[in-house]
Amino acid sequence: MKLLWLWRKELVYLALFCIIATVLSYFFGYFLHMLVIILIGALVYQAVLVSKLEAWLGHGARGKVPVASGVWGDVYYHFFRIKKAEKKRKKTLGGIIDKFRKSTDVLPDAAIVVGKNDEIEWANKLAKLVLGIKKSDRGQRIDNLIRAPEFAVFLKSGDEKSTLTIVSPFDSNILLLFKIVNYGVNQRLIIARDVTQQKNMEMMRKNFVDNVSHELRTPLTVLRGYLETLHDMDDGHSALLTQSIVQMNGQTDRMQYLVDDLLLLARLETKKNNNKCVDVAELIRKICVESNIIENNRNRIHLSIETDTKVYGVEQDLRSAFTNLIVNALNYSTEDKPVSVIWSKVADRVMFDVVDEGEGLAENEIPRITERFYRVDVKRSKKMSGTGLGLAIVKHVLLGHKAHLKITSKQGKGSRFSCIFPASTICH
Ligand code: ADP
Repeated sequence: MKLLWLWRKELVYLALFCIIATVLSYFFGYFLHMLVIILIGALVYQAVLVSKLEAWLGHGARGKVPVASGVWGDVYYHFFRIKKAEKKRKKTLGGIIDKFRKSTDVLPDAAIVVGKNDEIEWANKLAKLVLGIKKSDRGQRIDNLIRAPEFAVFLKSGDEKSTLTIVSPFDSNILLLFKIVNYGVNQRLIIARDVTQQKNMEMMRKNFVDNVSHELRTPLTVLRGYLETLHDMDDGHSALLTQSIVQMNGQTDRMQYLVDDLLLLARLETKKNNNKCVDVAELIRKICVESNIIENNRNRIHLSIETDTKVYGVEQDLRSAFTNLIVNALNYSTEDKPVSVIWSKVADRVMFDVVDEGEGLAENEIPRITERFYRVDVKRSKKMSGTGLGLAIVKHVLLGHKAHLKITSKQGKGSRFSCIFPASTICH
């Protein structure tokens, strides 16, 4: 019905042509000839309209819509509407792209989209500033522009959880932290964050702590020397003097421990490990004997060596970590409670466990106790002469040995500190 309505005008024209042919043939005869001539004229007219449309479309449908009557007028109008809608859609899309560009340009990080073969598809403004990626680099493989071997390995791994920090190939003063985000089909977003300032600050903090700790060593040694002389000279006549010397001795000892721990932490953070095969079982035996002697031979330590597995590491650092854990277990449980020290192999990993039946820890404290200077209950901890750096040292030592610390604890029941060494650290 609709179609019939659309062709209505054309049918009217056809009827009109037939009437004209009939009228003309009434006067001149030759009806069929008249009809054919008039229909040919109508056909030529149609052909002109089609060629007009073709010419208009051929010029990208630009300019005014050709004027036509009948069905061709409708066809032109529909084309015009489609063109108008397309233009509007293009404008909206352009606006969205423009907004996206503007927002990615103010991103605090450099962002690069790479395709299936790691070829650059798109990069924001910051990528140009920190990595020197230009528009003309599109289509180039990103590892051709960032040629650090560790970047190639990182790119290949495609691991979203890990990050990589390297110097920018464009400006050696810029330190960049890379992260990969996989999305879509075979597409990846590479984000590079400028961490130069952060790293510089960290370095400054490290250097400051390192320098201060070093500088404190000499005055401390002098103080200790004088205190020893004073102690030898004290004849016990003045209780106040005796008490003062004892207090000063205690505080200089504490300061010495702090300086030693800070220096050890600084060394652990900067030093590249010189790993050797360490006989851990033997090392633990020695530490336990020493700790028992310090503990006035109360024999609280129950040692259980279940494996003689050795691990790659630095004996001195492992000694510090294990000693800290054992001393903590002894300190944070009462003298009548045993402390178990276990060296065992579970599946392909080796574990050093220290288990106590002491005060334990609240669940919310567990993630915090490895922070520097964090001490749980200040009153409780003050009774102990610790520095609050012991577990931070343990964490750093284990980090340097590809191992990690697992803490399980229940308040009032006790704690288990486990150092877990992966199979890759085992040596024979
Ligand atoms: P500190 O020198 O104070 O012992 P650490 O870093 O070794 O410093 O320990 C941090 C805090 O963790 C301690 O102050 C203590 O409160 C808590 N802690 C450590 N080991 C134990 C343990 N075995 N049982 C209960 N609390 C512990």
